[in-house]
Amino acid sequence: MINQKPKSMNLHAKFFYKHFGEINEVSRKTKKNIIGKKMNKRKLKKRLDAVVVTRNKYPNSATISDYFCPRCGCDSTKSTGNMAEYPELYVQDHCLRCRFLVSEADNSPTYFALEFPEHGYAIN
Ligand SMILES: [Zn+2]
Repeated sequence: MINQKPKSMNLHAKFFYKHFGEINEVSRKTKKNIIGKKMNKRKLKKRLDAVVVTRNKYPNSATISDYFCPRCGCDSTKSTGNMAEYPELYVQDHCLRCRFLVSEADNSPTYFALEFPEHGYAIN
């Protein structure tokens, strides 16, 4: 047992889930391991520019070619799960790093922040 070094990734992940996926509850080292370095502005802009949004017929959600936080470029999100009673649906996905609202469904198709560059990537 003593010679068995656990993989750091597993340890970080374990620790992270123990904190209910709240990234600000964990150490900076774990945070870095889970969500990586923050994307720089130039790279983020490039990634934002490359996003292709395809509108689908209601009630289908739009198809987006990429899924990330438009504010910081982070790939990881945390879902609230359904916050309403079935059959109502109210789900939000927030960026793990900056808590930006990345997608939302409120008795509606899922809307993605990336669909609304003209509104500063705000869903509502
Ligand atoms: Zn973010």
